[in-house]
Formats: sequence, structure tokens, C-alpha cells
Amino acid sequence: MSIQHNLTHIQNNLPDNVTLVAVSKTKPIQLLQEVYDCGQRVFGENKVQEMVEKHEHLPKDIEWHMIGHLQRNKVKYMAPFVSLIHAVDNFKLLKEINKQAKKNNRTISCLLQLKIALEDSKFGLSQTELENLLHSDELKSFEHIKIVGLMGMATFTDNEKQVTDEFNYLKTVFNTLKHYKSLNCNLQTLSMGMSGDYKHAINCGSTMVRIGSSIFGERTYNT
Ligand SMILES: *Cc1c(COP(=O)(O)O)cnc(C)c1O
Repeated sequence: MSIQHNLTHIQNNLPDNVTLVAVSKTKPIQLLQEVYDCGQRVFGENKVQEMVEKHEHLPKDIEWHMIGHLQRNKVKYMAPFVSLIHAVDNFKLLKEINKQAKKNNRTISCLLQLKIALEDSKFGLSQTELENLLHSDELKSFEHIKIVGLMGMATFTDNEKQVTDEFNYLKTVFNTLKHYKSLNCNLQTLSMGMSGDYKHAINCGSTMVRIGSSIFGERTYNT
């Protein structure tokens, strides 16, 4: 199947309120251009260096999302252009994002990652840690970030009940916290769902799906 066919098929199956992030990690620029030419403007990468290179070579109206686990010392390279950071899971990282956003005279939008998978290899905050972070006084002083939602990754399993339980849990936490608003916090976006599980995620209330292999085909290496 062609990329164009894959993309159209997915777009036709997404409700209007769900944003598609085309996850282009490991894929060459020419394939991203092809997807861009089909009208897609939101791309997700999980490595800063790769995203910086692709940003340099592709049209400037692309919205770049950092979806991977992020190291503090890499934030500065993407701070001039990144539009959403999905997987923020600690305070020091937020502090660094705020600092680099300020240097670039910008506000950077972030999602907090809730740990929802049972397997302990996945990153993310517990519900308590997430609430503490959100309500902390120091957060209010971060004038160059905006926390706009939550993100989570379900366990990689064929067990559909487990996956939907995990998504439902994230949705429940989201519903609890979305009433909390401050100067730099207003939770509107719920980023959950990948190629294998995005239909479940949408049924559970996702507003943003991160889809790679169902658009671009399988990745030859997977990092
Ligand atoms: C790679 C990746 C995806 C997309 O995975 P697919 O299964 O190819 O759709 C989504 N989210 C994150 C955080 C990823 O690293």
C-alpha cells in the first residue's frame, strides 16, 4: 500500500476532534515530504538530533512534536522550533524547557506523561507525582511553558482488555485534572494511541494519536 493510501485511510477513520501526529522517526526526509504533500502538517520524532536535521530540510509550516523520552541537555537544540513535547516526566526537565524557551523568547507547550503500563520499562509519572507537580508553587513561576495535556503509552500486548483498562485509567486522571487551571496549565489534549491501539485509544477519549508504522510501514530499526 502507498503512503498516501495509508494516510487517507487513517484520516478518514479519525473523529474531527482527534489530531494525527505522523510519527516519522527513522524515516528519510523524502518520505516525510511525501506525507507533507498529502496535507499532513504534524510530525513526531523521538530523537532530538534527527528532528533538528529534518526540521532544517523540510517546509517551515510543519509542527514538530517530540514524542520520546527526553534528556535535559538536548532541549536547547529544539527549543527554537519544537511545538509540543509529549513525554515530560520530571520537574528538572520542565525547568530546563522553561529556561530554553525563555532564551528563545517563546512559550513551549508540554504534556505530562502518566505511567499507565503495568510493565516497568515505561517512563512516566505516577498519578500522585503528576498531581504534586501540577500543583507545585514553583511550576507557577515557569512563565515560558504551558502544560496543555497528558500523554501515556499502554502496554505492548494483544490483551485488549488490559490496553483499554490502561487508556481508561489515563482518561479518568485527565478528567479529574482538567478542571484545574492556572496561568501555565490548562489540560485540553490527551495524547494516547499508536498504530496498534489507536482505535481503542479513541474509544477511550484520546484527542491525539501518534501513528508511525501504519502510515510509513514498519521501521527497519526500532529505537
Ligand atoms: C514510535 C512511537 C510511536 C508510533 O509507533 P507505531 O507503532 O509505529 O505507530 C508512538 N509513540 C511513541 C512515544 C513512539 O516512540
